[in-house]
Parts: sequence; structure tokens; C-alpha cells
Amino acid sequence: MGRRIVVIGGGAAGMMAAIQAAREGAAVTVYEKNDRVGKKILSTGNGRCNFSNEAMGVEFYRGSGTALLDGALSAFGVARTKAFFASLGMRIRERDGYLYPASDQASTVLDLLRYELDRLRVTVHTGETVRAFSFDKGKEKFLIRRQGKDLCYDAAILCCGGMAAPNTGSDGDGFRLAERFGHRIVRPVPALAALVCKESFYKQVAGVRCDAALTLRVEGQEAGKERGELQLTDYGLSGIPAFQLCRTAAYALLDKKPVTVRLSFLPDFDAMSCGSFFRERLSAHGGDEMDVFLTGIVNKKINHLLLKLSGIRETQRAEQVSPEAFRRLQELYLSLETVVTGTNGFDRAQVCAGGVDCREVTENLMSKKQPGLYFAGEILDIDGLCGGYNLQWAWSSGTVAGRAAARNP
Ligand SMILES: Cc1cc2nc3c(=O)[nH]c(=O)nc-3n(C[C@H](O)[C@H](O)[C@H](O)COP(=O)(O)OP(=O)(O)OC[C@H]3O[C@@H](n4cnc5c(N)ncnc54)[C@H](O)[C@@H]3O)c2cc1C
Repeated sequence: MGRRIVVIGGGAAGMMAAIQAAREGAAVTVYEKNDRVGKKILSTGNGRCNFSNEAMGVEFYRGSGTALLDGALSAFGVARTKAFFASLGMRIRERDGYLYPASDQASTVLDLLRYELDRLRVTVHTGETVRAFSFDKGKEKFLIRRQGKDLCYDAAILCCGGMAAPNTGSDGDGFRLAERFGHRIVRPVPALAALVCKESFYKQVAGVRCDAALTLRVEGQEAGKERGELQLTDYGLSGIPAFQLCRTAAYALLDKKPVTVRLSFLPDFDAMSCGSFFRERLSAHGGDEMDVFLTGIVNKKINHLLLKLSGIRETQRAEQVSPEAFRRLQELYLSLETVVTGTNGFDRAQVCAGGVDCREVTENLMSKKQPGLYFAGEILDIDGLCGGYNLQWAWSSGTVAGRAAARNP
């Protein structure tokens, strides 16, 4: 009879860990607090589940676990992940390197994992929140209290996720369980979430989507740069480029440091090329009123906002605008500074940065504080960029932890 293993948390990482441990011959039990496993997977990739990415490497991740990442991605990287899902029956669709099930349904990924858990006869207890979890030194077993009885396991894998999207079950429980075994939790903050900004002008531009370059500044120093489709909302900045800057902004705000973002609505221009662009436009359309003169440069709502901020009237003829006012306007197109006051919070974040300090975990993801205790997924202090990196971490870490827990004597 194989080792008895308990997996706490039936998300992406927990299901993968359970499958890999069961494939090694272990008798595996999963505890999941929701009434079904893998709830979060259903909301990934806008319901299509961007489960990995062909462009893979440690450079797409943040946190205290670069060495662990390297090991896990070598053991079970993109090629093995694709082969794994293909072997379960999934056709895969690639878009610019981003990987999805060909069905474009996140439920495909979840269903195939569930069927495999069934096939391997993994015991899954849903609707059960693990609270009483300990290690009995005498018996050398992990104990879970269930319906008044202590159930014993040879190894345990904590896969409770972080604190992002707590409506899917991950509300920080895993951190509390890990702390009981002496683990340090790196401060959790929302990563991959929108940025809340101070200015009142956002209401005027809410709903605009545009190509933009975003430069994050912390205490006046550049701390990150992203370009992509910015989404303006009535409270601030959303869309992938804003999401990617969220983690750095969140830690800076936690440390009470001033955070700003400089927005360029003309990301292909620098000051010089922008100057000649406007000069040429002036010679061709100088007689137009500013409202007309600016039409076609970027989204109309942005043109109007920048005009207002530069103090130029919409009805003023372009050739009558003073050179200083024109310079101000150009500067705003290239570098509109906005003050970041917060993030959209855990409720609306895709990922949680922070978590169990990876320096307290071995290469096969076993706790250095408590032998036999393993971790996988977002509970660890590793978070990836947008683009399939977080689920890849769940698959890679789940595999490493599941196999090691099953094999470890
Ligand atoms: C809206 C959204 C979209 C996303 N899109 C993508 C995407 O397209 N690509 C990508 O790579 N990543 C995406 N992510 C991130 C990705 O989904 C997560 O990083 C990944 O699912 C984390 O897996 P996990 O198993 O570590 O944690 P989770 O999926 O959070 O699973 C943890 C599980 O543990 C359970 N649990 C917690 N505490 C207990 C307890 N005490 N007892 C029992 N069970 C417990 C929870 O109920 C939960 O089911 C997205 C996230 C969100 C919220």
C-alpha cells in the first residue's frame, strides 16, 4: 500500500499534486472547502483558461523562489504540461504563445482534471474546510480532525492558494495553517489588479481602451514600465499593463511610499518626434478649432481631457494657441502623471503576491520546518505575470510536490 497523502485545497495546484501523487501509487485524499473543486479555474482567462505560455522562464515571475521555480519548470515545464493535458484528451489552441484549451472553455481543463482524479480513485471531500491540522510527533503522522476523529497521513500538501479572489475559496487560510508550523509569511498584497488613482478626471474617460505606455514611479524613481492596452475606469487604471505594475505599487503603498504612474498616450513618440508631429499638423490644419485639430490623434475623450488639463479651449483655433500651452499639451500626451492611492484589492485581484517564504522550502517544495509537509501553488511566495504563468506555476509546483510527497520515505 502506497503512502497516505492529504492535499489541503482542491484548486489547480491541489488537483495536480493529487494526480501526480496518486500516479506514484499513493493513497490520496483531497479536502476542499467549496462544494466543488477548481472553482477558480472556471474564471481564468475570461472563462477560456490561459493555462500556460510558450514563452516561459523565471523572468516571468516574482517572489522569493527563483531557484525553486527553475527546478519546477525544468521538472515539469510547458512541453510536459501540454503533453499532460493532451494525454487527458485536450486539444490545445495557441494564440501568440498563449495556450488555451481548443474548446475555449475553462471547464474543459477542470473537467479533465476531475475525471483523472476519479480514474485514479483519489478521495475528494468537498464542502470541508480544514482547520484542525497538526503533526503528531509520536506517531510521525499528520492529523486532520474530521467528524470527531483524527485521520492520519504520512505526508501533507498545502495548496490553499493565497488571498486573491476569496470568493473562490482562497482567503488566507493556508497562510494561517503554514504559520502553525513556524513558517514566515511574506506580506500578501494583491498582484494583477487594477490601480485606484486620486484624480477626479477618470469619470470623464471611463470606458476608454487605448494603446499606452505606463511608467510606474515610487518615491520619484522609475520602478516599472509596461505597454499595452490600457483600460480607463471611473476610479483609475485597468487592463494588462496596469495589472502588471500592481504588485510593485502595492508593496510601495504598504510601505507608505508615494506612487505615481506616467501615462503616454503616444507611446511610439518621444519629445522630439512629438514636437515635429504637432508642428506638421499645425502647418496643415492650423486654422481648425482645437477640438477638430486633435481629432484622430487618440480617443476623443482623451483629447478632450488633455485639452482641459492644458487649459486650452476646445473652440480656440490651433494657430492661436500659445507655444507654452501647446508644449503643455504635448507633454500631457507623452506623460500624464497620475497619483496611485491603492489597488483594487484582493476581491478583484487575479493573483496574490507574498505567501510562504520560499527560503524555508526545499527544492522539492518540502518544508524545512516540518519534514513531510509540502506546498504547491499560490500559497508560496511566487507570482507570475499575466499570460498563463500563474497556472503554469500551479501545474509545475503541484507536480513536484505531489511526486516528492509520494516518493519520500
Ligand atoms: C479572475 C481570475 C482570472 C485568472 N486568469 C488566469 C489565467 O488566465 N491564467 C493563469 O495562469 N492564471 C490565471 N489566474 C490565476 C490562477 O487562477 C491562480 O494563480 C491559480 O488558480 C492558483 O491555484 P492554487 O491551486 O494555488 O490556488 P486556488 O486556485 O486559489 O485554490 C486553492 C483552493 O484551496 C481551497 N482552500 C483554501 N483553504 C482551505 C481550507 N482551509 N480547507 C480546504 N480547502 C481550502 C480553496 O477553496 C481553493 O479551492 C486567474 C485568477 C483569477 C482570480
